[in-house]
Amino acid sequence: MDCLFCKIINGEIPSTKVYEDEFVYAFNDIEPQAPVHVVIVPKEHICCANKINAENSFLVGKIFEAAAKIAEDMGFADKGYRVVNNCGEDGGQTVLHLHFHLLAGRNLGWPPG
Ligand code: AMP
Ligand code: ZN
Repeated sequence: MDCLFCKIINGEIPSTKVYEDEFVYAFNDIEPQAPVHVVIVPKEHICCANKINAENSFLVGKIFEAAAKIAEDMGFADKGYRVVNNCGEDGGQTVLHLHFHLLAGRNLGWPPG
């Protein structure tokens, strides 16, 4: 499948791995928007949040579990962070493989964009 994140998951395209388990893969964003900017993806190809359903929604929990582990391991759990998903054109999604951005290391503004 011609999907950038599937290629990253299977090693066809290099990435800086931050975390991996049976269900999810996490790597540093190539264009970081904060001192810490990790992209967390399910290993299963799901195009976007619109396609989360009863069969695959456990993967979203796995992604948040991974975010909590990364935050603890990298030492910013107490200070705080943001986990965000962009869906579709208006949401700013550019890669059509479901992913969550884990941002930390600075005070993040609200509302975003
Ligand atoms: P989104 O705009 O929400 O679809 O997020 C896609 C993210 O993937 C952006 O933050 C990009 O900087 C990031 N990205 C694109 N190509 C790569 C790559 N080869 N390695 C790491 N991150 C990438
Ligand atoms: Zn994919």
